[in-house]
Amino acid sequence: MEDYKNAGAGDVLSEAQKYIHNQDSLDLISRAANYAAEAHAGQFRRSGEPYTAHLYNVAYILATLRVGPKTIAAGLLHDTIEDTGISRDELAKLFDDEIADLVESVTKIGALKFKGKDDPEYQAANHRKIFIAMARDVRVILIKLADRLHNMRTLEYQPEESQKRIAAETLDVYAPIAHRLGISAIKNELEDLSFYYLNRKEYYRIAHLVENKKQERDESVQKMIAEISEMLREHDIEFRIFGRSKHLYSIYHKMVVRNKRFEEILDLLAIRIVTRTELNCYEVLGYIHAKYKPIPGRLKDYIAMPKTNMYQSLHTTIMADEGKIFEVQIRTEEMDAIAERGVAAHWRYKEGGNYDARTEQKEIEDKLSWFRDFAVFTSDSEDESASEYMATLQRDVFEANVYVMTPKGRVIDLPNGATPIDFAYRIHTDVGHTAVGAIVNDAMVPLNTELHTGDVVSIRTMKGTGPSEDWLKFVKTNQAKNKIRAWFAKREAEKRDSMVDQGEKILSDELKKRGFEPKNYMEKKKIEGIMKEFSAREYSDLMYGLAVKTINPTAVCEKLTNQKRGAGDEALSKLLSRDNVKKQAMTKTGIIVPGIESIKLSLAQCCLPVYGDPIIGYVTKGEGVKVHRKTCSNVTSSDARLIECMWDEEDRERLYDSDIVIIAEDRNFLLTDIVTSVSQSRAPMLKVSANVNRSDLTSTIKMKIQVHNAEQLEVLLANLRKVEGVISAMRVSH
Ligand code: MN
Repeated sequence: MEDYKNAGAGDVLSEAQKYIHNQDSLDLISRAANYAAEAHAGQFRRSGEPYTAHLYNVAYILATLRVGPKTIAAGLLHDTIEDTGISRDELAKLFDDEIADLVESVTKIGALKFKGKDDPEYQAANHRKIFIAMARDVRVILIKLADRLHNMRTLEYQPEESQKRIAAETLDVYAPIAHRLGISAIKNELEDLSFYYLNRKEYYRIAHLVENKKQERDESVQKMIAEISEMLREHDIEFRIFGRSKHLYSIYHKMVVRNKRFEEILDLLAIRIVTRTELNCYEVLGYIHAKYKPIPGRLKDYIAMPKTNMYQSLHTTIMADEGKIFEVQIRTEEMDAIAERGVAAHWRYKEGGNYDARTEQKEIEDKLSWFRDFAVFTSDSEDESASEYMATLQRDVFEANVYVMTPKGRVIDLPNGATPIDFAYRIHTDVGHTAVGAIVNDAMVPLNTELHTGDVVSIRTMKGTGPSEDWLKFVKTNQAKNKIRAWFAKREAEKRDSMVDQGEKILSDELKKRGFEPKNYMEKKKIEGIMKEFSAREYSDLMYGLAVKTINPTAVCEKLTNQKRGAGDEALSKLLSRDNVKKQAMTKTGIIVPGIESIKLSLAQCCLPVYGDPIIGYVTKGEGVKVHRKTCSNVTSSDARLIECMWDEEDRERLYDSDIVIIAEDRNFLLTDIVTSVSQSRAPMLKVSANVNRSDLTSTIKMKIQVHNAEQLEVLLANLRKVEGVISAMRVSH
């Protein structure tokens, strides 16, 4: 690798003195150097050198670019905010706002972390735009480039994995920016240094090939230089002439990307002629073409048509003796400076009487718009118009996007107008869902605050919280919108799922209560067979309806089991629904016989029906109608004496006697537990008897209790079955 000058404080000043003569300006540079030395005292680089070595070198590189004294001062101070804890405002007091702003911007950009090529979020072109969008002031970029150049020169002191990462970032982000700015000196050095750390084997291979051919090439070039020099002297033209060597990375790049053989690239011998005026350039070209054979199609006039990065020069390729081919560049001193230092040369520091802060500011703005104008190009396309460049730029960098950072320096690219919520969802879906507050540049702000390029954003989250529907009104990214909507949709679905579960339980309980085995009735197919009757379109609709009580479980139960409460036939129930039905409530039994106004009714003692049981009447001789449960073994369905009857829905306060029998393993306190369970069901007990069977040590408990209805009785029996030791609990028919 090429040697570079390891500059000290004295070198910075002597390089600056080459073009800065104002004593105040030189004093400013000295003051910044002294302050930086004091502020960084005791700090060292990995190389073992004092930290100031880095600062002097950065300032020296800036001075070789011929930047103004404030930029050199800012270069000397560029790490003070980050490494010595001084604030921007303190710097402004010690120096001025301009220098303080430069240092602050450099610090901010230094915090950017660009993704490597292996990262899926990698987008080198965007990184360059972000970088430029955040810098705004070209001087910030110059300082950053000088900083990176010195860091690359001293990269050997970094651990290997850092070397690779930093080199990749340099090649992807910094070298192209240097190229865009036309600073080929820095661009070439950054590329070769990156190349060395990224692919040492190839680097050495090409270096070796170049070295092998060096002597032969040097001889040819020296011979040609002598010939041309003699010719130009005859024409009395002022000039400098020298041979050029291509930098290694450009050779590698041409071999790999343009698929050229090494010989093809290196066979081109290169010479540069720097003369005084534009006219001289064309004169020199004429003499050369007169003497040597130009290769057709290889003449390029970048003086009349400058490249987008300001580059100007004449290029031609000629064939000399022995078939040797030379590339010749002809340009003025000023063009040469622009080719080497690009934007820095164009905007080089000028001292003079009418040069004040305001003219400088104006010049900066002019140069900035020009600089921004081409800063976004990703290729050197030269045929788009300037206004198109500007439009692309506006859209791509300054309007369409804002670039904000996480506190750790990760850059997040968002559309204009984006808010902390957009940011949060970009970080992680869960961060978005649980966002409760936002901190932008150290201040708490509302979640709908518009973010701006350069903002440092962090999000406060709280576990267990969810997004707000209001967010949909202000978020700008589709990502955030979709995630918020998805969250609500998922919650709705979960709610519905749990409602469906609830509905299933309601129906299953209802079936059990009526003595049906839920398993046999709750098959999806069976439910689907009846769901139309309840205007349900699918299984889950019906269950949901049950849960939210828009569908009556009794009705569903009856449909499923083909049963009607009370009388079982369709015609009768229709009849009953009519208002003119004559009925008689028998307050004693709570039962009515449709169509019969007055009849003696009593409940059969054998089966003791309770409200809710399917019932049937039996017309006795002289004792009126006895009402049995339909399941009672004492009634046969074919009997002519049977008469339909039904529960009086308006008489629901009465209690019905019921006989139950419980069989349990005998144990201490068994009876107490059973009685407790019955009391908890709020059923009065009329009689209790218990017998222990000595042969199997089981206990049989008979009870006469009172209940309001069959449902209460079912629950009571179910609870009894849960009592420890209980084997069975059921109603008794005699
Ligand atoms: Mn630095």
